[in-house]
Amino acid sequence: MNANKFYKLVDDANQELYPGCKKISTLSFTIRMYLLKCLYGWSKASFTALLELLKEAMPNLNIPVSFNKTKSMIKDLDLDYKKIDACPNNCMLFWKQHEKDEQCEFCGASRWIEYPEVGYHLEESKKVHKVPAKVLRHFPLIPRLKRLFMCSKTADTLRWHAGRRSREGRLRHPTDGQAWKDFDAKHPDFALETRNIRIGLASDEFNPFRTMSLSHNTWPVVLTIYNLVYLF
Ligand SMILES: [Zn+2]
Repeated sequence: MNANKFYKLVDDANQELYPGCKKISTLSFTIRMYLLKCLYGWSKASFTALLELLKEAMPNLNIPVSFNKTKSMIKDLDLDYKKIDACPNNCMLFWKQHEKDEQCEFCGASRWIEYPEVGYHLEESKKVHKVPAKVLRHFPLIPRLKRLFMCSKTADTLRWHAGRRSREGRLRHPTDGQAWKDFDAKHPDFALETRNIRIGLASDEFNPFRTMSLSHNTWPVVLTIYNLVYLF
């Protein structure tokens, strides 16, 4: 998506929540509602029902009227995630040339849950579809970096490392560390570009439903932008 289209989308969504409202925009309200849905596990149907009730009680509210419309607004901002099926034994992802494969080419495991466990809750609309045994949710990095550079404040912060070296040997930012300097020495062309980005990768297991008796768990892989890390 080009920058002009993105800014037009933000302008469209950045309208007053209701006539005269200066405190919160339609975009902020919608994103916060969506966050609450994710945090507290609201169903899509309950989310739509709440939006409909708000709209009925306050017809002046300038909000999307369904979950799908909310989702498409988030998607248009290019901050959505992509679902990629994975082998249940973690051998491979079913993407690119393997997008249509039915089983893992390494261990032979089926891509699908053959017999969903008793009590496996599915929404009605999904029951006709096969259920993937494991799913990777991928949050593409590039669109997010583009968003960071589109805002003058965050763009300035991302470039802070260039030209601001430590004084008196103090460690204030990863740029003062030896690893950063060594990387610059090894890759001078990369170092010359002031918009360069350095990221750290971390991963750990957690139980997303806060119930340790459940066997389901999640392994988030988190990227940290070192350009934005300050030590002081
Ligand atoms: Zn496998």
